Amino acid sequence: MTNFQATQPVASEMLVKMVQKKRLAHAYLFEGKNSHDIEQASIWLLQALFCDQPKDELPCEECNSCKRVRAFQHPDVLVVAPDGRQIKVDQIRQIITSLSTSSMEGGYKALLIRQAETMNSSAANSLLKYLEEPDGKKLLLLQTEMNARILPTIQSRVQTLHFLPVSAKRMVELLTESGIAFSLAKDLSFLSETLEEAKNLAEQEQFLNLREAVKKFKSLCDNKQDKAFVYVGQNLQKQVNGKEFSDEEKRNNQEKVLKLLTALYEEELKEKPSAATAIEAINEAKARMTSNVPFQSAFEALSIRLLYGK
Ligand SMILES: [Zn+2]
Repeated sequence: MTNFQATQPVASEMLVKMVQKKRLAHAYLFEGKNSHDIEQASIWLLQALFCDQPKDELPCEECNSCKRVRAFQHPDVLVVAPDGRQIKVDQIRQIITSLSTSSMEGGYKALLIRQAETMNSSAANSLLKYLEEPDGKKLLLLQTEMNARILPTIQSRVQTLHFLPVSAKRMVELLTESGIAFSLAKDLSFLSETLEEAKNLAEQEQFLNLREAVKKFKSLCDNKQDKAFVYVGQNLQKQVNGKEFSDEEKRNNQEKVLKLLTALYEEELKEKPSAATAIEAINEAKARMTSNVPFQSAFEALSIRLLYGK
């Protein structure tokens, strides 16, 4: 259990016990805001079904079958993922038909459903029918970061394993491993609850521009450059409230600016006690915005506080 034992002590212990005692349920739901660990645990559980040379009943993770499972090239592991934004009923019907045929290699047959919360209601109902009459050596594994969106009737027929959210430190590690620069990875970790969310943000040009503008604003303030005041109106304002944004996007942008700026100052707290004053000033700007002061005015006032301390 190389990849998730340390970060998921409870889930991994439960999995080991179930596999060793050969007490597998016919359907599992792996849920939590941690797609990385959920994926690793899914692969491990699937390997446990197919491993050629288990050690103490646990998958070796090295044999041909384990490797094929990890590469999703095992003929008895079926996978469903959203087609566009949804998993549709035809996808579920089709895959359940394939699941019902006997396994290619004489053992288990498994179905992995990614982002199970995206099943539309007819897809979910179709799956429910299958769950009501499970058969033989079949294992169904649902993954989700949004447990609340899974039908209660489905939840009651699967065994749920909860995965802890990814820590900020671990998120930075995973993001840099996937090729994202360290400084961007750190900022993404301040703003994202899940790895998916962070990766999506990293690909949005609008977000990258917004982040640049926040950093520039902070650096002007830190270096006591009066330009910080006009920078709000000339640049930051456009990145946050530009015409191209919907009202909801504008609110999201404002929230990101406040969060990122706060996090950047929080990082400096250890070495620079004066950062506490900056955080206080940001909180005041936030409070003003909550009572309907426009973003630009609130941030112009903030720039003055950060520049001159008043
Ligand atoms: Zn193996």
